[in-house]
Amino acid sequence: MFDFLSSKLEGVFSALGKTGSITENDLEKALREIRISLLEADVALPVVQKLFNEVKEEALGEKIFRSLAPKQMIVKIMHDKLQSVVSQSSEETEIKLRGDVATLMLVGLQGVGKTTTCSKIAHFLQKNYSSKVLMVSLDLQRAAAYNQLKSLALKAKVGFFEFTPTDFGGEVNQIALAAKAYAKEHGFKVLIVDTAGRTSIDEPLMQQLRGLSEVLNPSEVILVADSMLGQVSVKMAQDFQSFVPLTGLVLTKMEGNSRGGALLSIKYVTGIPVKFTGVGEHMDDLEIFSSQRIADRILQMGDVVTLVEKVSQLESDKEIKGLNKRLSQGIYTMDDFKKQCEGLMKLGGIGGFMGMIPGLGKMKDKIKEAGIDDTMLKRQIAIINSMTKAERKTPSMITSNRKKRIAAGCGQGVDKVNKLLKQYEQSAKMLKKFRQGKLKNLTDLAKMNNNL
Ligand code: GDP
Ligand code: MG
Repeated sequence: MFDFLSSKLEGVFSALGKTGSITENDLEKALREIRISLLEADVALPVVQKLFNEVKEEALGEKIFRSLAPKQMIVKIMHDKLQSVVSQSSEETEIKLRGDVATLMLVGLQGVGKTTTCSKIAHFLQKNYSSKVLMVSLDLQRAAAYNQLKSLALKAKVGFFEFTPTDFGGEVNQIALAAKAYAKEHGFKVLIVDTAGRTSIDEPLMQQLRGLSEVLNPSEVILVADSMLGQVSVKMAQDFQSFVPLTGLVLTKMEGNSRGGALLSIKYVTGIPVKFTGVGEHMDDLEIFSSQRIADRILQMGDVVTLVEKVSQLESDKEIKGLNKRLSQGIYTMDDFKKQCEGLMKLGGIGGFMGMIPGLGKMKDKIKEAGIDDTMLKRQIAIINSMTKAERKTPSMITSNRKKRIAAGCGQGVDKVNKLLKQYEQSAKMLKKFRQGKLKNLTDLAKMNNNL
């Protein structure tokens, strides 16, 4: 067990510092696994392909931290890439309200949640911005659509523009303009336009939407997409974009199992900001889009990402840099040992650190049983603090009298001092092995420890 801990310490520190570079082979292997994860998350295939090409270009030749496997570095690079695809400024997220009657037009295929989202946004604007909102239904093919929006307007306590199918010659453009005029006349600040959907893209509908966007001059044209749509979402979004000037996206049904692949795909191909995500059927089930958690959710390799982030933080830590330099020269004193303990604490303690390394999690219990935990790290630091400068530099000079003094100084038993000295020796031995090239990285260590 002592071996185990000291090797862990060694693993973290003497193995820090950069080693070789990411190769084509590393990329091939790592990306194979990542591809499965992305496809499972419903990221569209052409998007996966494009992302891979970009990541390959960025990652190839990148230096690898010695304590990490190339795959871990590649996962992190991929994660950052995904995050950059979904990230956007708060300005982009905001709903733009332009003009006397700011007009929002919602478009999308049938059943994706347009009508529901119209009322959610109306409710949101009225609640948060005290904007008086009027809604109009331009889904003339289905009588039910008109009634659905009407009852939702009642629920949301917002205005609803009433008309019969024969009014305004049954012309959508005329109805839309009449609704806008009505809004202006009655002091509504926002007009939300619900449009017709189809099960698939069809030319007449697209022409209708284009016409509407021309006569209404809307502040926002928002494409509503179902996050469960999967692979077809990319083509759908591109088709809409080629007909109407989209300015925003809403992804619905995000509360379920959907990992957000459709969101990423659509955002990647259209470059349009996501305004909201729909997270349920109720009026309040609307969230302002936040890009932060999406990359994690899509890749689902958060542990590896955290590990790489922590290791690179340590890499830039001045103390640790100095320590690594000394270790690489074969210098290893009690002070160095103490710094290792402190570094391990910085990594979130033993539990936190072990939990992050794939394959080590299951050894946690064994470690706990042996009494190796963060209290022990703190105790070790206290014992070393109780040593004189000379003792720290040359631990071999610590005789039994000195041990007694050190133990008394930090309020620990002599047995604990002995234990620490033994661990230090084990660590020093490990370091030697590292320097001789017998151990290369944490995976080697894990293998070795499994054999103990
Ligand atoms: P439209 O045809 O695009 O207007 O779609 P609707 O607004 O009529 O919605 C279709 C179905 O999806 C309805 O049963 C809605 O309750 C449901 N729906 C809409 N948004 C969400 C959402 O964010 N989560 C869930 N679970 N259901 C939603
Ligand atoms: Mg509808």
